[in-house]
Amino acid sequence: MLFENVIAGERRSADDASRNINPSDTNDVIGEFARASNADVDDAIAAAKEAFPAWSRTTPLQRHDFLKKAADEVMARREELGHILSREEGKTLAEGIGEATRAGQVLDFFAGEALRAGGEAVPSVRSGVDVGITREPLGVVGIITPWNFPIAIPAWKIAPALAWGNTVVFKPSDLVPHSAWMLVDILNRAGLPAGVLNLVMGRGSVVGQALIKHPDVAAISFTGSVETGRTIAAACVASSPMKKVQLEMGGKNPLVVLNDASLSVAVDCALNGAFFSTGQRCTASSRLIVQDGIHDAFVAALIERMQALTVDNALLPGTQIGPVVDEKQLATDERYIAIGREEGATLAWGGERLNRARPGFYLQPALFTNVDNRMRIAREEIFGPVGSVIRVKDYDEALAVANDTVFGLSAGICTTSLKHATDFKRNAEAGMVMVNLATAGVDFHVPFGGRKGSSYGPREQGAYAREFYTVIKTAYTAA
Ligand code: NAD
Repeated sequence: MLFENVIAGERRSADDASRNINPSDTNDVIGEFARASNADVDDAIAAAKEAFPAWSRTTPLQRHDFLKKAADEVMARREELGHILSREEGKTLAEGIGEATRAGQVLDFFAGEALRAGGEAVPSVRSGVDVGITREPLGVVGIITPWNFPIAIPAWKIAPALAWGNTVVFKPSDLVPHSAWMLVDILNRAGLPAGVLNLVMGRGSVVGQALIKHPDVAAISFTGSVETGRTIAAACVASSPMKKVQLEMGGKNPLVVLNDASLSVAVDCALNGAFFSTGQRCTASSRLIVQDGIHDAFVAALIERMQALTVDNALLPGTQIGPVVDEKQLATDERYIAIGREEGATLAWGGERLNRARPGFYLQPALFTNVDNRMRIAREEIFGPVGSVIRVKDYDEALAVANDTVFGLSAGICTTSLKHATDFKRNAEAGMVMVNLATAGVDFHVPFGGRKGSSYGPREQGAYAREFYTVIKTAYTAA
């Protein structure tokens, strides 16, 4: 089946297409997805530009109603959408349905945000003058998303963009276009006027580049790797006029485990944070920083739990860890496992390629011990089910190691000490801090984002998302 791009409210085929393959069963071809050309991207941007004046003048209630209708449909079809998502991305069905549910919640939240738009009336320093501060939409927003959250990330970018009156050209990851296509279809069938939301699928080097260079795109919201993010930010600044840009990128998130932690809580947090979703989360706990006194018990208990994990086809009911997303990412994971061994870390368990009933990209979750924070496996984002245990002598060393990274997305601590939990919340150099919780797993109504090399620009999600999707106007009136 061929899935077309959606430009100016119409489905548009393209000369090129990509085959979407199920990573749990590479014989299963999900469909052919159109790859947009430069001309298609130009047309999508022109459609979004044309739709902007009328869309930006719709009432908050109209925008609320569109988003609410789409939210209700996503919620009603969350099992079907979760299945589509798990089939193309490889996360388990429970995780896929959970993510589809999250997309529905996000749409619902931003439907409400459309109604909560406000402004300020401020007394002037001059007599007889009133000052008003209002927020306005930016115009055409380009949205570029990664493969690991195929529906939630597009939802949490598209929904606030539309809620605050922008029009959108959306480019999903080439690896997971089906979830994106479904989301756009649901939003457009909720009654969005033609051109308000356009879908251009295809390669970053073609579609992404055309989007970031076009003068009629006012802003780019991007989630993906640091390398691509850097290119995008540079292009946004170089374009005329300059574009507003928001980047959410990688992580090398620490989970600190202190001697006084509950062992079962710590092992739960590590297992979930490091390996669930096949470790393919920007918030994954890839560095497990463990104090001397609990180290051996923690490692033994974690390995016991890892050995019991069922790694299999994402769509089977008992599966706990699905396959890696594709051959390229699997090769990256295996390369880092080899690098870890060469660097002198101990591969304490896992790391083997697995064969299952169907051909897929199956990898046993891997745990390294005797890791030094200077090793590449502790410094570079692997983006797979590979955890590294770093032994430390006390809390101060744990905090120093946790912060010794170019990233700063999420940081966690397992402890029963109020003193250390409080100190960690104050001093962890991360956008999100977790106490006795996995580094991955966040709420949808509060800000999401990081510091240092993990993020650039305003936060996503919650009411804070408006900082990116609106521009402020200060109006002076002499009465
Ligand atoms: P990626 O950077 O390879 O691709 C992301 C998107 O950018 C894709 O749509 C891709 O087609 C596009 N793209 C690629 N090259 C481009 C170019 N030159 N110009 C314009 N667009 C281009 O990332 P990925 O492999 O899809 O995703 C994994 C990365 O995403 C990891 O680093 C992960 O940490 C990060 N991520 C971050 C968050 C967060 O919120 N911080 C969330 C999820 C994933």
